[in-house]
Amino acid sequence: PGPAFESARRGVEEQIRELWWFLSNELKALKSDVGNAAKNRPQDALVHSLENNVEDLLKLSTDRFRVLQRHVKRLKEDSDQKGWREQEALELSSLVQRRLDYLQNPMNCRTAKKLVCTLSKACGYGCQLHHLVYCLIMAYSSQRTLILRSQGWRYSKKGWESLFLPLSRTCNETNTQNIVHWRDSGNENDQEVLLPIIDAMKPRVPQLPLSVPVDLFESLKKFHGDPPAWWIGQMIFFLTRYQPDTDKFITENQIKIGFHTDTPIVGVHIRRTDKVGSEAAFHSVDEYMVEVEDWFQNHDVERYPLAAVPRRVYVASDDPEVFKVLQRSYPAYEVIGSPDISKTAALNTRYSHSSVMGVIFDIHNLARTDFLVCTFSSQVCRAAYEAMQSVNVDASNRFKSLDDIYYYGGQNGHKRRAVFPHHSANDGKHSESSPLRGEIDFVPGDLIGIAGNHWNGYSVGTNDRSGHKGLFPTYKTEEVVQVADFPIYPEVPR
Ligand code: GDP
Repeated sequence: PGPAFESARRGVEEQIRELWWFLSNELKALKSDVGNAAKNRPQDALVHSLENNVEDLLKLSTDRFRVLQRHVKRLKEDSDQKGWREQEALELSSLVQRRLDYLQNPMNCRTAKKLVCTLSKACGYGCQLHHLVYCLIMAYSSQRTLILRSQGWRYSKKGWESLFLPLSRTCNETNTQNIVHWRDSGNENDQEVLLPIIDAMKPRVPQLPLSVPVDLFESLKKFHGDPPAWWIGQMIFFLTRYQPDTDKFITENQIKIGFHTDTPIVGVHIRRTDKVGSEAAFHSVDEYMVEVEDWFQNHDVERYPLAAVPRRVYVASDDPEVFKVLQRSYPAYEVIGSPDISKTAALNTRYSHSSVMGVIFDIHNLARTDFLVCTFSSQVCRAAYEAMQSVNVDASNRFKSLDDIYYYGGQNGHKRRAVFPHHSANDGKHSESSPLRGEIDFVPGDLIGIAGNHWNGYSVGTNDRSGHKGLFPTYKTEEVVQVADFPIYPEVPR
């Protein structure tokens, strides 16, 4: 199938999801309203029958949507009989990895231009991994070999290379005394340049996330639904090639806890402790498990008439309590994960070697599940989603975030484009909580800076043209993927 077919097929997938989120949320809200009315008017037969009707409507439409999704999935499988998606994905991934290998192993390390990054950011592993991803993207875009200085790293004093392969076989050190700071322009002749953290980067170069290289985009958009996450996943793939001991740790512990992917497994990441209240809201185990069970039910309908699959869930958390809750409240589930590992993830024990091994293990496994339920406000969850893109052809639909949409900390703007016009009663003048939903207006072609998706059919954002901020129906808009010029590495054959 041509690119037009693929883009239409993705459109159908997205529209079904949006329609389902909208309808199921409206029905749940209606159910709760009618339920309250029934409580207040116990004698009112009409209200009681309405309550039952809404309940049935929700159940019946859920089943209809599952069957619809099964058909859409078939459409994807049937249009991929020769495995062209996998072929295209393998070729593009191989090209990026070979370019990184070329960049990181210059012929002459002494004269090679270099970009220096440190691992001194005072934050968790996911945040530091993302810092390195940004460094590698900037190295790739400025054609400088990335030199990583990570001695004394808070997670492992011997540095990044004690866990992962060095970024180069030939060139891991600077060789001048004169390492200059990254400047807006005019760095071209400096041999060794120190990169600031992403938030301090000025001006904001167009190559920063969520941009993808223009020369890869034509191929990428054919097989992948979230090109920026794929591109970042490729960087993670290169950066986190395990040392033999790390590899051994992962394999041994997978055997110990019974992690395998022979039968379906859903991954759940539950971020608690220091994050809750400061950077994210609390979400109960039940909220995650509703999404897990929903995935399994969809999966069973997809496979029908084959038997329903056993329920298995991989759990990662910095709060060991969640294992107890899961074991107590979900006896139908096989719960896989390690409370010992999550103990080392709690804030008071976090910055240690065992803690970093734990989070590497959790991200590795989460990335290999069939579906990921987590909060994108957490860098651990986003890193798992990104890594997931490098172990699958296209895992852009294999997640449910309970809070944010996918983003990259310090990213350039993320936009959607209006496809259909939208007229609300009060263009952005109402607060989000108002009954009119505080919707914004737009005309086709308007760009909307997107701040979030409420996962109920509505997103929130600011119309670039009018400056008005508010909710808007997501289905009337489409994703804009930013592309930027990057070097094309002609020395590396395609
Ligand atoms: P964020 O704070 O969730 O955005 O992500 P960071 O990675 O920047 O910091 C959180 C840190 O807490 C991680 O790097 C881990 O050290 C620890 N952590 C959080 N969640 C988990 C988890 O599910 N498993 C493990 N092993 N560690 C976790």
